[in-house]
Amino acid sequence: MKQNSKAPVRVAITGAAGQIGYQLAFRIASGQLFGPDQPVVLQLLEITPALGALNGVAMELDDCAFETLDGIVVSDKAEVAFKDIHYGLLVGARPRGPGMERKDLLLANAQIFSAQGKALASVASRNVKILVVGNPANTNALIARENAKGLDPRNFTAMMRLDHNRARAQLAAKAGAKLVDVHGVTIWGNHSATQYPDFYNAKIRGRAANEVIADEAWLKGDFITTVQQRGAAIIKARGLSSAASAANAVIDTVRSLTTDTPKDNWHSVALCSTGEYGVEKNLIASFPTRVKNGKVEVVTGVAVNEFSRGKIDASVNELKEEKSLVGDLL
Ligand code: NDP
Repeated sequence: MKQNSKAPVRVAITGAAGQIGYQLAFRIASGQLFGPDQPVVLQLLEITPALGALNGVAMELDDCAFETLDGIVVSDKAEVAFKDIHYGLLVGARPRGPGMERKDLLLANAQIFSAQGKALASVASRNVKILVVGNPANTNALIARENAKGLDPRNFTAMMRLDHNRARAQLAAKAGAKLVDVHGVTIWGNHSATQYPDFYNAKIRGRAANEVIADEAWLKGDFITTVQQRGAAIIKARGLSSAASAANAVIDTVRSLTTDTPKDNWHSVALCSTGEYGVEKNLIASFPTRVKNGKVEVVTGVAVNEFSRGKIDASVNELKEEKSLVGDLL
């Protein structure tokens, strides 16, 4: 291993033997998230039946001989996997089983995320940054946050970046533009089929996307549904859900939350609302977000027209409903 005087960054990945975890662990271990000079310790959590598979992942990580990988912890106990962590990437979640209602799924995950919130509060670094990927991600993040007394509520986020990246890619393809020329995309609301990919504020080569594409019917119709249903389209095509692109979006999110955002741009992440854009306080909702002088903030003054308002409200209403279903665990 490379001799490096820097203290390691400790990163927990839950559900680390799953599809997304399997992609994510290797990218972080190889230095793609924190750079080639930053040692990383991976602290991997799985449910007990998946520990065998997780040990296999740890063996493969060893076999990569990544010079940035300073250690691996493998455990089925959150208090072990979350000890002193700086970042918690909460990917593992209970999938919907046969005959399971939405409420049952919410409640099953609420149990997992309330226990993990408590474990974070008791053993993680006081400034730990949490990104929830496991679905229903926004409400899982809300539950973890509410159970993590003493930690900063704004450090609890849920991933919207895959949706954001999908929206940028669709706009670039339609306009025949390069991705680097597409800015100002926002995904609002919940990471679910109600999410609203807002094209009205997007810019392509510095001009309004709406003018460049000049096809509002496509933007209001196929564009939105393509982004909302892209996950299902990947499952249909691949026979498996998106994993590499989801892991990539985790890397993008953490990087965007930890580096200052270029002027006039923003990214999408779900974080604790303080009432911005009329979104009920304390919900974990997605907003246009930027980092300025190291501080994460919701971008203010983004125009919300009547069409956008209706879409944002519908998605936020779904978040309110999810919150009311798990009320006992808050
Ligand atoms: P994946 O690694 O494919 O997905 C993990 C979670 O990410 C799922 O909840 C999935 O939601 C969610 N997700 C969020 N955004 C996306 C996206 N854009 N594309 C795909 N998935 C997305 O699941 P696996 O089943 O392969 O692995 C999960 C692991 O978690 C397993 O190894 C399991 O043992 C572990 N686990 C851990 C638990 C715990 O921590 N206590 C509890 C249960 C499982 P969706 O299902 O809606 O696609």
